[in-house]
Order: sequence, then structure tokens, then C-alpha cells
Amino acid sequence: MTFQQIKEQEQRYIIHTYGRVDAALVKGKNATAWDIEGREYIDFTSGIGVNSLGYSDPGWTAAVSKQAGEIQHLCNYYYSPQNTALAEELCKAAGMAQAFFCNSGAEANECAIKTARKYGEKRGAYKIVTLENSFHGRTLTTLAATGQEGFHKDFLPLTDGFLYAQSGDIKALDTMLDGTVCAVMIETVQGEGGVVPIDPDYLGSLSRLCAERDVLLIIDEVQTGVGRTGHFYSFQGYGVQPDVVTSAKGLAGGLPIGVCLVGEKLRDILKPGQQGSTFGGNPVVCAGAREVVRRVSEPAFLQSVREKGRAMTERLESLPQVEFVRGKGLMLGIKLKSGDAHDVLVKCAQRGLLVLTAKELVRFLPPLTITTEEIDKGLMIFAQVLQEGN
Ligand SMILES: *Cc1c(COP(=O)(O)O)cnc(C)c1O
Repeated sequence: MTFQQIKEQEQRYIIHTYGRVDAALVKGKNATAWDIEGREYIDFTSGIGVNSLGYSDPGWTAAVSKQAGEIQHLCNYYYSPQNTALAEELCKAAGMAQAFFCNSGAEANECAIKTARKYGEKRGAYKIVTLENSFHGRTLTTLAATGQEGFHKDFLPLTDGFLYAQSGDIKALDTMLDGTVCAVMIETVQGEGGVVPIDPDYLGSLSRLCAERDVLLIIDEVQTGVGRTGHFYSFQGYGVQPDVVTSAKGLAGGLPIGVCLVGEKLRDILKPGQQGSTFGGNPVVCAGAREVVRRVSEPAFLQSVREKGRAMTERLESLPQVEFVRGKGLMLGIKLKSGDAHDVLVKCAQRGLLVLTAKELVRFLPPLTITTEEIDKGLMIFAQVLQEGN
């Protein structure tokens, strides 16, 4: 098939919910990908923070293929050693007690929301506070949790009981937590919202306030988790302990997974029959995730993420067209002094560099295993594009 034919097929048979870039990727190795016409790209996207170990990592490929050749799926009536082992490894890495497995970030957040509703149910606390400019998913309930009106439009009414607080304003939060609220849900770095890190003092106060009022603290680590920010979970860099953590995107290295982790006080709060997922905890997916968790939880690996993030930030800050760089680890948002971020994305792709945008920023989420050579090549293309066009 030619690229032209693929585009025609897409035009005709796919519902157009995505704006696409002119490239059909068919092969990859670490942070380098090739399209169907053989053109090479440096990948600063890792599929929106999914391919944590890059493309076709040998250890990950071996783990997944081996499991696919043994038993590819089983129903959750039965025990699966991949599933139980991943749960233990994740709980230990996150300092949490138990896991519920599903298939995406939105579903993980749905489980967190159900957990919180059940926790507050007896005392009539059902509301959940999230932050303005947040992103928590595309289902009707996680859209309600998403504090951006643009996403709500055309789909009303959404699930009831969500309140939006302005990040950084602890007084406003204090008045909101009035006894009808069962949980506060936040991202430590708002990804889709424009790579906006939370103020650490605000997070500390928010965490204390939640504990005082018996309100659950849910941290959505769907984008920030599994090494992305240079900590296994980003909250571990802030000295707070959430009651619920949700994780997805990069967790299984490129296979669909979501998990809702709960702390000791929520042990077995959801009872048999109260939550489920046909594919949740699938052994092939869990085998991939175990390889990711094993590698990413190594302190030296996490340190390398922080170092690569710092090095990229410094070099980006030295570009004359860059206004500022923000983010954490290998989750970076680049604000340009002028020009449109999406134009830059298109031009980068034409030159052989894949990047993302987040609001008006260019966003980089490279594989955590990206090499120095790949970073050099990618940043060189980025600098050229900025020099030419802006
Ligand atoms: C991507 C994302 C989600 C939604 O994840 P899906 O797997 O697309 O459902 C939820 N929360 C955050 C913070 C995200 O970045």
C-alpha cells in the first residue's frame, strides 16, 4: 500500500476525531521511527508518553511475545501469575496497598471516582474537586472531572458532582471542602493543559487539608507516572502520600493498560461485582508492564531521566526563539516567543522530528530510553525549524 492509499482509506473509513500529521509510521527502534516511504524520524512523542522503553525494545518484545505464545488472555474468574506479580511490584514501587487493572487512563480514573463515591457514601459526601485546566479523560464522567469547558461542549449533561478549584488558591479549596466532598483529584503536572507543574507548597497544603477533612487525595499519574518525571510516580518527588493513584499511558510500554492503586485505608472498599473489566489485567499486557516497571524503577534509570530532562531543558532555553521551558523530567513544554506551536509540529515532521503540542506550547514526551545521539539529532532539527520559520 502507498501512503496515498492509506490516506484515502482513512478519509473514507475513519471517524475524523484526530488531526493527523503526514506520516504513516511502520517501524521503529528506540526513539527513531521510519514511515512507509522509508523516511526517518526522531521521536519526541513516544505515542503521547506510551512507549516508555522506545520502539521494539528487545527485553519488552521478548517478554510480550513469550507471554503471547503461552496464554494470551483469561477471564478474571481465574488467577494469573503475571497479573498478581505486577500488582505486587506496582504497589511496592508506589507505596500503595492494592490494584485494580483496566485498559486506559479514563477507566483508571473512573475506578478512582467510584472508589471515592463509595468512601463518602455513608456520610453523603459525593462531590469531587478537580482543578481548572485539568484533563482526566474522555468518558462522560472523566469529562466532568476535566476542568476545561471546551471539552464539555456538545456532550451535556455530564455526570453531576464535580467542582473546579483554581490551582494555587488554598483558601478557595478550604471553603470548597465542606463535608459534601469525598475527594480531590489532581495532576502534579497538567499535561494536556499545557505542561503546567503544580506549586509544591500548594500540593503540600492541599494534601494536609484533605487529611484533616477526611477527603481522599487522588493523584492522576496517567501522564506523569512510571518514570516520566524522573520519579517512579511524580508524587514521590513532592513528599505527599495520595490515597489513590491512577496510572496508564507509559505503564505497559505500548500496550493498553490502566490501573487504579489504593492505599491501606481503602483496602477492599470495592466489593465483588462492584467493578470489573473484561480485558483488565490481561497477561500479555501485564508481562509488558512488568518489564517496564522492573527497568524504570531502578534508581539509576530514574536519575538518567532527570539528567536527560535537565540537559534538554538547558539546550532548549539557549535557543533564541524559546520564551521558556517548563515541566519535569522528560515531560517538557516549550513556549515560543512567536509563531504557532502546531505549525512548528508540522514543519518538524517534514524535517524528520516528531513532537506534540499542549495548548500553545510545543510538548516533548520522548521515550525514557532516548539516547544522547537521538536527543542531539532531534534538537538539531528543532533548532533549524525554529530558525527558519519563526
Ligand atoms: C491521557 C490522560 C488521561 C486519559 O487516558 P486515556 O488512556 O486516553 O483514557 C487521563 N488523565 C491524564 C492526566 C492524561 O494525560
